[in-house]
Amino acid sequence: MIEISGLSKKYDKTVALDKVDLTIPTGICFGLVGPNGAGKSTLMKILAGILKEFDGKVSLYDQGEPSLGYVPQDICLEETVSAQANMNFFGRVYGLKGKELQERQQLIFEDIGLSERAKSKVTTYSGGMKRRLNIGCALLHSPEIVIMDEPTVGVDPQSRRHIFELIRKLKQEGKTIIYASHYMEEIEGLCDYVAFIDRGKVVEQGSIEELLTRYAGSGVFIKGELPDDFLDNEEVFQKDGGFVIKTEKPLEKLAFLAKKCEIEGVEPNQLSLMQPRLEDVFFSLTGTELRDKSA
Ligand code: ADP
Repeated sequence: MIEISGLSKKYDKTVALDKVDLTIPTGICFGLVGPNGAGKSTLMKILAGILKEFDGKVSLYDQGEPSLGYVPQDICLEETVSAQANMNFFGRVYGLKGKELQERQQLIFEDIGLSERAKSKVTTYSGGMKRRLNIGCALLHSPEIVIMDEPTVGVDPQSRRHIFELIRKLKQEGKTIIYASHYMEEIEGLCDYVAFIDRGKVVEQGSIEELLTRYAGSGVFIKGELPDDFLDNEEVFQKDGGFVIKTEKPLEKLAFLAKKCEIEGVEPNQLSLMQPRLEDVFFSLTGTELRDKSA
């Protein structure tokens, strides 16, 4: 596992990380979630060994250089040559050559779904394809730890699917994946553990299941023109132009409200079960939405 304690990082006067404590178990997908400017990239760059000046402790480098692949947020490829030439370059940087390099390359091109386009110049690639190639380059040497910084930003749905499949495969192979995103749905779908980062601090961390149970809870969502006293006896909060009724027995509550609507002649636009979401956990921890809904 990777232990991080009291990790702080400043850029001149800007505090990017403020006494961060984190435990990242081996062989899981660990999500770092937080708004832009929260400190995710800084943390990843420190883990990747790129930023070397910081305060605090990171156990990753205790026993020499770890087996690690880093996918930066900004795509880093030489676009005037072929995808294959880029792979060759990165392969050599990672100390691979000859038959081993060729075999790994072939496997990676299959994994990222670009075998047919391996010989094409990168200038002919779409943004999503470039992103997949960039990820592939970081995996050539079969690293045990893979760090990915917002790998789906600006990526088309097909490339996004490829990236998700690849991450699931890496997970099955027992790799440790550290994945930063400000898309909660991605973290929910891919990760086992998550740390919420806000303004340089870790506000909470744990398994997704545990955090959902602890903070979000389940409920029933109702939206529409309701009589003033319709929800008087319920514990509610407002959301997306409607109301969430929090309850430990959402099915029972849904049936109760449906019956009540029928009896009182109320026709809501929406009456549905509300499963707990990470977005709600973040809201309950920080009092802010992770991102503007219209963005
Ligand atoms: P995130 O990845 O969550 O968007 P970053 O780690 O990139 O967050 O940034 C954290 C804070 O540090 C922000 O306030 C950002 O403006 C600042 N920052 C990041 N990199 C630099 C840098 N090279 N020089 C000065 N400030 C920086």
